[in-house]
Parts: sequence; structure tokens; C-alpha cells
Amino acid sequence: MPRSSPAQWALHAPSSAAIVWASDPQAELAMPCPKGANQRPPFKKPATDGHSPAPRGKWGLVIELQSPPPTATMTPPVATFQEPIEATTLRSKSSILNSASNSTFADKTVADLAGRWDDFKFAPIRESQVSRAMTRRYFKDLDDYAESDIVIVGAGSCGLSTAYMIGKARPDLKIAIIEASVSPGGGAWLGGQLFSAMVMRKPADAFLREIDVPYEDEGDFVVEDWTVKHAALFTSTILSHVVSLPNVKLFNATCVEDLITRPHADGVRIAGVVTNWTLVSMHHDDQSCMDPNTINAPVIISTTGHDGPMGAFCVKRLVSMQRIEKLGGMRGLDMNVAEDAIVKGTREIVPGLIVGGMELSEVDGANRMGPTFGAMALSGVKAAEEALKIIDQRIAENRA
Ligand SMILES: Cc1cc2nc3c(=O)[nH]c(=O)nc-3n(C[C@H](O)[C@H](O)[C@H](O)COP(=O)(O)OP(=O)(O)OC[C@H]3O[C@@H](n4cnc5c(N)ncnc54)[C@H](O)[C@@H]3O)c2cc1C
Repeated sequence: MPRSSPAQWALHAPSSAAIVWASDPQAELAMPCPKGANQRPPFKKPATDGHSPAPRGKWGLVIELQSPPPTATMTPPVATFQEPIEATTLRSKSSILNSASNSTFADKTVADLAGRWDDFKFAPIRESQVSRAMTRRYFKDLDDYAESDIVIVGAGSCGLSTAYMIGKARPDLKIAIIEASVSPGGGAWLGGQLFSAMVMRKPADAFLREIDVPYEDEGDFVVEDWTVKHAALFTSTILSHVVSLPNVKLFNATCVEDLITRPHADGVRIAGVVTNWTLVSMHHDDQSCMDPNTINAPVIISTTGHDGPMGAFCVKRLVSMQRIEKLGGMRGLDMNVAEDAIVKGTREIVPGLIVGGMELSEVDGANRMGPTFGAMALSGVKAAEEALKIIDQRIAENRA
């Protein structure tokens, strides 16, 4: 877009005014010319009275008024609409059914709605309410969980099982789950070769009963009940248990980019994680200076899966930090050997960092196991147990 002509980006304006970019050699408040046609400089109050045409020169944001001219220039919208801050207690079906509200938009059952679509209407909304409902909660969570008790890296089958066990056993602990993908669940939405059924070998059926997932007993191993026989049943169930826990926050689409360390008698202690939006992490090669955020925590549990573009993240970082010599390298497939090894080997690898699930195969060189998921659930149970063994000591070190 040439500098000399007013830009024609249409911004939001009331019917009596039009907001345009124009140039002004004298205007003290003028903005520099934007570099690209798609970049909008931030909204800035113009130096004109709002009636004069925009002078030429440097670029600035001015208001061109249409009739009738108001008496003052338009300023950026003032936050005039403040909806009350609601309590953030979760509402269950029974609490809703028991509530006694008589307003038009009182809590209805689906049966109340059915067949009455001619009169149907959503409750009124102002768009900013939607924005604030999201941002207020998210930024409060960022604030609350900047100091966590436990961070779980990766929300695959192992990470979610770990979160479930700790979150349930210790409601006093604040647990942040950092998941790089938009969709948590890792590789547990399908079984092998993209088939639907999920196989869990006994005794991992105990975990299915724990979270109330039906399964079909086939003797030495169990498959989820044929009526719902889909890995997604396990993953959606454990996920819903975990995100419902009041002491757990899942930050998805967020990536762990590094580990926070502290000096320790054993060399170094892991004392938190360095995070960023995953989309930002993916662009460090072509955009510079996109610094991350951090979460401090005395115990980190890494369950980022086997080596791959994103997997085995913390173990790979331990190698580059020279805390372990090299990646173990996942071995060939042997279900019998692999599942036992992953569960038994789930442990604190360096002070403050527990590794579980398939990521552990990159520490110990365990065999791959293929599409059998019992080890992931029970590795989560063991990771929780290990975390609860060390949490008090690591919290004390963290305070020192
Ligand atoms: C393509 C594919 C290949 C498979 N290959 C094998 C195999 O070779 N051997 C085997 O035994 N099983 C394999 N499986 C089966 C099964 O998926 C895994 O065994 C199982 O999912 C591992 O569970 P997990 O919880 O350890 O890790 P995953 O289910 O892999 O979950 C790890 C999670 O961590 C997240 N994550 C990764 N890095 C970061 C980071 N830096 N920050 C935040 N989050 C992060 C990922 O997005 C993911 O959601 C494979 C599955 C798939 C889909």
C-alpha cells in the first residue's frame, strides 16, 4: 500500500463515524507507517478535532466523521460493560435439577427443550462476556499454577493416569498438566494399526474398574466391552475424570520447551518447566525473540512418549544437559518384556524428575510394546506413587 494514500482498513466504528488510517506530517501522536498491508498498528487517539480531513505525512489513526458530527473525537472504546464475576463452582446435573430458579432461562432439561423450537431462544449475550469468561479464568489459572506442586508433561495415557492417581489421592496438591497438542490423549485414541479396540493386559483391568470403563474379559487379557469397544472410551473417560478434579489444570496447546534447574548434591535438581504456546515453539526457527513462560514445581513427571518430533522431550533434554549419557534407544517389540519393564522402571531419574510411559524406553532402552496399553495406565499408577514418596522432600528443597 503506498504511503501517500490513506489506508482503507475498515475498523469497527459506530454509524456516525468512520475510522481510517491517514497521514499527518505534524501530528505528534502519529504512528509510523505499518510495514505490511495486513498489519494493523495499535489503535491510537488521533490529534485532530475529528472534523478536519486527515493531513498528509506520517501515518496516524484519525476519525473521519459523517453527519451528524459529534462534539468530540471518538476514543478507543471504554470498558463500560462489566458483567458480575460469577463463582466458579462446577455444577452437576443433580445440583442443577435441585436449583430453584424461575427465570425464562432457568436451567432446563433437554426434555423441556424438545419439540419447542418455534419459541426457542438462547439467553442474551454480549460478546465481551464470552471473551472475559475465557480470559479471566485462563489468566487466573496461569497465575495460580505458576507455582505448582507437580507438573505432568504430556497428557497421553500415562500422563492422564498419573494425574488421576495423584489428583485423587492428594487434593491438597496443585497439579499442572502441560500438553503440546490441542487434543490431549496422546496415542491412546486408537489401538494398533488404527483399529478401534484398546487392549489392556491383566492386571491393568484393575485400572479400568477404577475409572469405571466397561471391558470384555477374554481370559488372559481384557478388551473394552464390545458394545463400546473403542480406545476413545478409555481416553475420554480418564480425561473427563482428570479435568474434573479441582486441583488439576490442563494447559493444552502448550509445550514444555526446557527444564528449570537448581544446584543439588546430586548435581542438579529439576525445579520446574519452561513453557510456550506449541505454535510458538514450532516457529523458533523462523521467528526470533519469542521468549517462553515458566512454572516452578518441586516435582516434574515427564510422560511425553517415545522419541519422535515431540516425544521423549525431557529425556532428550537430560542428555543435552549431560545428566544422562545418551538415549537408551527403544528396542524391538516384545510385549511380555516391555510392559513389565516400563511399569517397574517408572522412577525419579534425576532429583525432581520422574519419567514414565514410553518416554522411559528412551532412558532404559526398553522394548517397544505396540498396541497394548496396560503398562501406560500402571506406569501412571507407579509414577504417582513415586511422586508422593518424594514430594515432601522436594518441596522442602524447593523452599530452601
Ligand atoms: C504413530 C504411533 C506409533 C506408536 N509406536 C509405538 C511404539 O513404537 N511402541 C509402543 O510401545 N507403542 C507405540 N504406539 C502405541 C502407543 O501410542 C504408545 O505406546 C502410548 O501412547 C504411549 O503412551 P504415553 O502416555 O507414554 O505417551 P503418548 O501417548 O505418546 O503421549 C505423550 C503426550 O505427550 C505430549 N508431548 C510430547 N512432547 C511434549 C512436550 N514437549 N510438551 C508437552 N507435551 C508433550 C504429546 O503431545 C502426547 O500427547 C504408537 C502409537 C502411535 C500413534
